[in-house]
Amino acid sequence: MIKTTVAGSLPKPGWLAEPEMIWAPWHLEGDALVEGQQDAAMAWIKTQEDAGIDIVSDGEQFRKHFVHGFLESIEGIDWNKITTMGIRDDRYDAQVPTVTAKVRRKGSVHGAGAEFCRHRTNNQMKFTLPGPMTICDTIANEHYASRPDMAMAFAELLNAEAKELEALGVDVIQFDEPAFNAFMGDVKEWGIEALHRAIDGLECKTAVHICYGYGIQENLDWKETLGDEWRQYEEFFPALNDSRIGQVSLECADSKVPLSVIGLLRDKEVLVGAIDVASLDVETPEKVAATLRAAMEFVDPERSGACTNCGRAPLPRRVAEDKLHALGAGAEILRKELA
Ligand code: ZN
Repeated sequence: MIKTTVAGSLPKPGWLAEPEMIWAPWHLEGDALVEGQQDAAMAWIKTQEDAGIDIVSDGEQFRKHFVHGFLESIEGIDWNKITTMGIRDDRYDAQVPTVTAKVRRKGSVHGAGAEFCRHRTNNQMKFTLPGPMTICDTIANEHYASRPDMAMAFAELLNAEAKELEALGVDVIQFDEPAFNAFMGDVKEWGIEALHRAIDGLECKTAVHICYGYGIQENLDWKETLGDEWRQYEEFFPALNDSRIGQVSLECADSKVPLSVIGLLRDKEVLVGAIDVASLDVETPEKVAATLRAAMEFVDPERSGACTNCGRAPLPRRVAEDKLHALGAGAEILRKELA
């Protein structure tokens, strides 16, 4: 009941990559980089275990960015052909590479990292992959007839990768779809269908993480325009509830998402985000417990997990560690209360 896990990324140590930024350049290269990534992942696994996190992750230490870390190993993308594209429905401009030919997975992308971590923890393990819609919103298309066509092509590659991760002993595979709340109509038309293609044939748990983005300035500015209550999820949660995805991860800590939307996911496991990733203030365990308790009004404890609102790559490392401990301790308070 109320197992704890993390949404995705964790900060990279300052000796591995430039701290407190996304798309941070590596400080190491070649074999030293691989060893550094392994050491960083091992440190985070230990920290998660110590903090009482049940389903641990590699903290995305083996990739530079949650989307491009996957795309770097895919053929059909021209990294020299940089297109400036308004992403997340023109929320901000990004310099993105361009798909110029049929996409193909050259080989395993995250297998080595997953295998390394699998041998270093007895806890259950989660691995995150970018969702097909979010990939398509982070790359320019000069090859496929439409965005949905490109999404299905990427979904096929994600499916091959996910099957490999499952075979390596990964317990939960999560697809990150922050683009879902920018394109609510598309989610219903093809976003969920693309996710279904990505999870096809998997027997492990599957999850989708949807969110309002990292605590970067562009997202904070956009959030200012959304009004007092963020009800975007209402539009596609009924369709998501009918989907074959097992878990939905969403932000609930200091969020303007009304908790009542959780009630639309009555057939899903809900990962309740109880740690704010946009604030440097470390939550008290009592505050975490209060967020979880409030969410329990709309979801049974048996169907709930405790999670972070989003990835934490841009946070200072020690703040992220302290927040992990708060998450573990807060979930424990509620478990005792409910026992
Ligand atoms: Zn997120």
